[in-house]
Amino acid sequence: MTIVILDAYRRLPLFVRILLGAALGIAVGAAMGRHAESFKPFADLVLKLLRLLATPLIFLSILHSLLTAEIRGRSAGKLAWLLLSNTCVAIALGLLVVNLLAPGGHVAFPPPSGPLDKRPFDPVTDLLGKIPADFVSPFANNEVIGLIVVGVALGLALRALRAEEHEARIGTLVGWVKLGLDLTMKLLHWLFELVPLAVLAIIARVVGATGIAPLLNMIWFVASVALALALMACFYAVRLRLSSTVRPGRFFRGASDAFALAFSTASSAATLPVTYECATKKLDVREESASLGILVGGTFNHDGTALYEAMAALFVSQALGMHLPLGHQIVVALMSIIASVGAAGIPQAGFVTMIAVFSAVRLPIEYIPLLLPLDWLLDRCRTTVNVMGDLVSTCIVDRQPT
Ligand code: ASP
Repeated sequence: MTIVILDAYRRLPLFVRILLGAALGIAVGAAMGRHAESFKPFADLVLKLLRLLATPLIFLSILHSLLTAEIRGRSAGKLAWLLLSNTCVAIALGLLVVNLLAPGGHVAFPPPSGPLDKRPFDPVTDLLGKIPADFVSPFANNEVIGLIVVGVALGLALRALRAEEHEARIGTLVGWVKLGLDLTMKLLHWLFELVPLAVLAIIARVVGATGIAPLLNMIWFVASVALALALMACFYAVRLRLSSTVRPGRFFRGASDAFALAFSTASSAATLPVTYECATKKLDVREESASLGILVGGTFNHDGTALYEAMAALFVSQALGMHLPLGHQIVVALMSIIASVGAAGIPQAGFVTMIAVFSAVRLPIEYIPLLLPLDWLLDRCRTTVNVMGDLVSTCIVDRQPT
């Protein structure tokens, strides 16, 4: 009997298991009250493992993107500008919505286990202080920001060397980096198997300590993210109308298959073949532009993820009653750009790389798992926007009005 139940459970899609975990967590938390605190070690364990994998994921993704992207010529420059400006608009929209609607004001999370780091924050000194003094400590101490710095520096230097004389050796290195990335993803995949149980533990703790109200009130956050993502889709439509001969109506009809797949798989990487086909067959984009915009752009560009990560950081700070002034929000924005590049196009990657954004502004990362029960839905929405961003940039690079 137990085997049959376990088998049926394993056959359920992950998001259904996560929702089951959340429902059970509510029941267990309500029944156990303060005793549900005993679930803390399990919740902490999953957080520790997430952190363990976040750093190699970000480091290897950045290195892999920088080593493999074929970025040359004028269209590449135009694409880089489009991608960066889209990501900045996405983050600005996210920050605007979260500041105006203040969804965190409706939620009071239980206090953090340690004291909040309230030292005055100077973005320049604090960020410069995170630049590693040696190559080893970021790896030894699992320091996200140090690893990003090392990853970007090594990636750019290796690109330059490849252009000089080390083509063959760097080709071998790319193979190893890809292996490391696939290995990290495999481990992440296994870790995600534990996520429903982690959700159960975390929700039981919160419900036991503060009742169900904080969880129900997280609906404000979901609504705010959905609104910001919808505004981003409107921005894409306007940008397309102004900068491309592809009309927004035709764009949304032609790309609908890619959007549906992105929403159902929550993976822009898995959607890639369909995105490419929509671009070339339905939107009549030239193959070279599709290769540049979708294959190259897709590796770097995750506007929906960047928007979400910035909003999540602000939401948690609001829920803790920690005001993040403009300087911090700029750091959040910068880190969200980097963390979104480091997020591979797989389900919940953005959720993992969010650790970098929280760490940069000293927000306690122990609250990140609280967002897990919402992530099955928000991940699908942001992945759809990620794919939309790739396609919009591709259409603009391909066809500018004359
Ligand atoms: N799932 C997203 C994607 O595949 C990444 C993320 O988790 O934000 O594009």
